[in-house]
Amino acid sequence: MRMAQIWMHHLGYRWKKSPRGQYVDGHKRDDVREYRDTVYLPKIAEADGCRRVWNRDGKEDEESRARRNPNEPVVVDHYHDETHFTANDRRDLRWVHDDEKPVPRAKTEGATLMVADFVSADCGWLCSPDGSLSARVLFKAGIARDGWFDNNDIIRQVTLAMDILDEFYPHERHRFIFDNATTHRKRSDDALSARNMSKKPTQAGKATWGVWRTKTGPDGKPIYGPNGKVVKEKIRMADARFSNGEPQSLYFPEGHPRAGVFKGMAQILIERGFNEQLINGLRTECKGFKCPPSSQWDPEHPCCCRRLLYNEPDFVSVPSILEMHCQARGYEVIFLPKFHCELNPIEQCWGRAKRYYRELPPSSKEADLERNALESLDSVPLESIRR
Ligand SMILES: [Zn+2]
Repeated sequence: MRMAQIWMHHLGYRWKKSPRGQYVDGHKRDDVREYRDTVYLPKIAEADGCRRVWNRDGKEDEESRARRNPNEPVVVDHYHDETHFTANDRRDLRWVHDDEKPVPRAKTEGATLMVADFVSADCGWLCSPDGSLSARVLFKAGIARDGWFDNNDIIRQVTLAMDILDEFYPHERHRFIFDNATTHRKRSDDALSARNMSKKPTQAGKATWGVWRTKTGPDGKPIYGPNGKVVKEKIRMADARFSNGEPQSLYFPEGHPRAGVFKGMAQILIERGFNEQLINGLRTECKGFKCPPSSQWDPEHPCCCRRLLYNEPDFVSVPSILEMHCQARGYEVIFLPKFHCELNPIEQCWGRAKRYYRELPPSSKEADLERNALESLDSVPLESIRR
């Protein structure tokens, strides 16, 4: 057996999962590295010394408990993720040749159940102490079933999580860690963006500049017109912020001869203290907004108005709906760097649950799929999660 294994390695095979899907390695992308090193890791490190540390047997480490500042709340990081359980899931380890390329997933996996959940070393799966209330969401993914898990679903789920934590764990400082998916990072319709702004104020006699969005009814669903198309409406973009935190309206105020009219990028920049002459002499944007690389920028001679405004701190760090929703209730949101799912410990929990799942009797019935998935998730021991 050992000789056969050595020979397989020699011939370029590795014992691993069949490669599948389109795998993109973005670990080395500059923007990803910068975010990981200057935003994500410092945020995680900030709570060092404020978290509970666990021993191998799943009990709290006494020494680190004694070192913790008793006047500071314990920080609990709840990692979020979504995964799929498929009815025909089976063992997937085999000899894979080094040259083998991933192929897209076959569509023969049978019924699929999506699970979205939070996990932490302190609480395990996020739920009330007696397990009767849980932040877990089950979802039959796909069109014509429950639809897709979108930003509204994630907001509903995190609300449930905050309700549980408020009620049962109010003395800790809870943080939610999400992956960097666009559904999670969605911004509100009126969020700041310099993308489509004109340099000058909206001309007299024309409808003032704003943001178009889909009109929704009281149920949050889009409204359709008689022609069957969704109805759009134009709204004002939200206020920007000066560096001192004061709001800056993008529209002329009441009492101004052009009250309510969009100011234009030049006026917005001048109000921020940029030199009037410099701004007025500047072009609206570089062709196609393809500005010269930042290494070639001269702060005295910026390339265009749009780039200047685009780089203003309040335009750079527009919070997502998810962040605003959680911050309003005192919860912090942290996004994992892109392409770094290995930094999310929930992956190991899914892995453990799925190993258990594959041992259960196969069934194509949806009721079995759901029961088996839940049983598998509950089979993950808290001591393992803490490890
Ligand atoms: Zn430019």
